Amino acid sequence: MTLLLASTADSAELWAAELRARDLPKPLVVLPDIPDPAAIEYAIVAKPPPGLLASLPNLKAIMSLWAGVDHITHDDTWPRHVPLYRMIEPGLSKGMVEFVLSQVLNLHLMNYDFMDRQRAREWDNQVRGVYGTEPLAEDRTVGVLGLGEMGRNVALGLAANGFNVMGWSRTRKELAGVDCRSGGDGFDAVLGSSDILVNLLPLTPATEDILNSATFAKMKQGASLINAGRGQHVTEADLIAALDSGQLSRAVLDVYRTEPLPSDDPFWTHPKVVIYPHVASITRARTAVTALLKNIAVLEAGGRPDGRFDPNLGY
Ligand code: NDP
Repeated sequence: MTLLLASTADSAELWAAELRARDLPKPLVVLPDIPDPAAIEYAIVAKPPPGLLASLPNLKAIMSLWAGVDHITHDDTWPRHVPLYRMIEPGLSKGMVEFVLSQVLNLHLMNYDFMDRQRAREWDNQVRGVYGTEPLAEDRTVGVLGLGEMGRNVALGLAANGFNVMGWSRTRKELAGVDCRSGGDGFDAVLGSSDILVNLLPLTPATEDILNSATFAKMKQGASLINAGRGQHVTEADLIAALDSGQLSRAVLDVYRTEPLPSDDPFWTHPKVVIYPHVASITRARTAVTALLKNIAVLEAGGRPDGRFDPNLGY
């Protein structure tokens, strides 16, 4: 019985090296060299080739190397009867906290506005408001959509740095220092209160296009958006219209409907958009392989690791 690493992603070599460096419970084979498909019990995958997982008859589990599993489930042939686990590992969560905290601070301190002034050679010491009345973190409310592995840690990290934090999830949570909401009313309350809105929802039929013109209209005028969830959460033309009208003042984007972002996409040149190339947080090979091997040990012992994908919920 065998482990398979099947990745067509950039980090395939790195993950293979990290796995080979460990004391593995079973032999490892690495795509494209799969001598005996029937021997594969655990498939560790990132963007596996379409049809591959369906061709492995004795799979016990599919382990995603990424937090999102859309790179697996968009293949119609993926075997739905095999438990699928998304990546939960401390490196990914810590990296997301660092990314969002840095962007919230950039927006709070209006750093991108100062960069605009620099390009215009404009000395303006009232960018943040009347000199001497500039808001502190405690004067800003940050709304976090999604309170899972990413959102929960981000919300706690923002609260620890002095921001007012509201969070929204499908089922209501209790998080120290975070005003947690759920449901439609909770969504509207978070939208209407947030100076900065952070999207960390998973992509499901219920969340696709959740950030659209109606959503933006419910937000405070001049609020900002950070999207590190998935590009399909945003109706992109509606976001551009909200930025052009001044309803939103800035958008920091890490994910897009089409990736890589096409060179003629209007986001590239929009003065109110900050572009990151899907790097908000990355699976760290060392901590991720430790988490994967722990999950395999739990499964082998008859247990149930965290992070199992629920096809009914879509995440
Ligand atoms: P989780 O599955 O751990 O958490 C999802 C959260 O969203 C949960 O709190 C869940 O609620 C909530 N949620 C799901 N559906 C709804 C809904 N319909 N209404 C309200 N809340 C909902 O996901 P992760 O935290 O691991 O990942 C979050 C997102 O971040 C994903 O889109 C992932 O792809 C993305 N990501 C992006 C990265 C990047 O570099 N840009 C890196 C890593 C992740 P409940 O708690 O009740 O289940």
